[in-house]
Amino acid sequence: MKIWFTEDQTDGVRLGLKVESLLWKETTAYQELVVANTESYGRLLVLDGAVQTTIGDEFVYHEMITHVPLSLHPHPRKVAVIGGGDGGAIREILKHPSVEEAHLIEIDEKVVEASRRFFPEIAVGLDDDRAFLHYTDGIQWVKDAHDFDVIIVDSTDPVGPAEGLFVPEFYRSIYEALGEHGILVAQSESPFLQPHLIQRVMTGIAQSFPVTRLYLASIPTYPSGLWSFSLGAKGDLVSEVRPELRDMPTRYWTPQIQRSCFDLPKFVEELVR
Ligand code: SAM
Repeated sequence: MKIWFTEDQTDGVRLGLKVESLLWKETTAYQELVVANTESYGRLLVLDGAVQTTIGDEFVYHEMITHVPLSLHPHPRKVAVIGGGDGGAIREILKHPSVEEAHLIEIDEKVVEASRRFFPEIAVGLDDDRAFLHYTDGIQWVKDAHDFDVIIVDSTDPVGPAEGLFVPEFYRSIYEALGEHGILVAQSESPFLQPHLIQRVMTGIAQSFPVTRLYLASIPTYPSGLWSFSLGAKGDLVSEVRPELRDMPTRYWTPQIQRSCFDLPKFVEELVR
């Protein structure tokens, strides 16, 4: 018998993954959480029916949401991830020798628990001495935060508790929470399937940040497989990858990708012009 996980990514697009076994299912205070083993991408984490991460392609997302902004900052010491309860972004941030504190602000403790249990290779950084975990709403947390070098919004889609993570007021609070050379990066969905959301996020970020950029990465289990990240910076971005970062152990990000990541396909450039 074949069992398939299907995600209705939009009204007209569906992703199907053949499931070998269901490992966990629970309804948390915030969402429905499912962990399954799939034939093609290995273990899969699903929240409210939407793929969050798979063992097969998580490295692309986690490397690109972290190494791009951390390489653009002259000396990132204090970094925060809002959402990101699987821990993948924290694992990557801790590869940067300059980082002294990596804070995770996750509303749902159960996501962290499930990741520690079923995705130890992703959650591996959460027990590091430089990792600090806060189980609270990122929208409130950021209002009292200050002096951060990089803040990363690694959120679910803009529904439910994540809705307020996609509005200009939130980007303003992040601007206030950042230090002098501060950088914000937010995952901003697919240019094929959510072009208007990308425009909304970029316009929202531009209301507070003088410098804005968009970049892309190929993530096969996310809607359309082509994903976007929106960036806002308080000032100039570092243009050359610092020597100590050139040999970081990565599988997708390279210094060459860093140099070219803001070269966009024409239809995406037109979208954000
Ligand atoms: N990589 C993923 C993606 O793009 O599909 C996101 C992964 S991560 C698991 C997303 C996390 O954001 C979830 O664990 C969810 O609980 C958390 N989250 C949603 N809204 C939040 C909020 N307001 N504050 C903090 N965390 C939030």
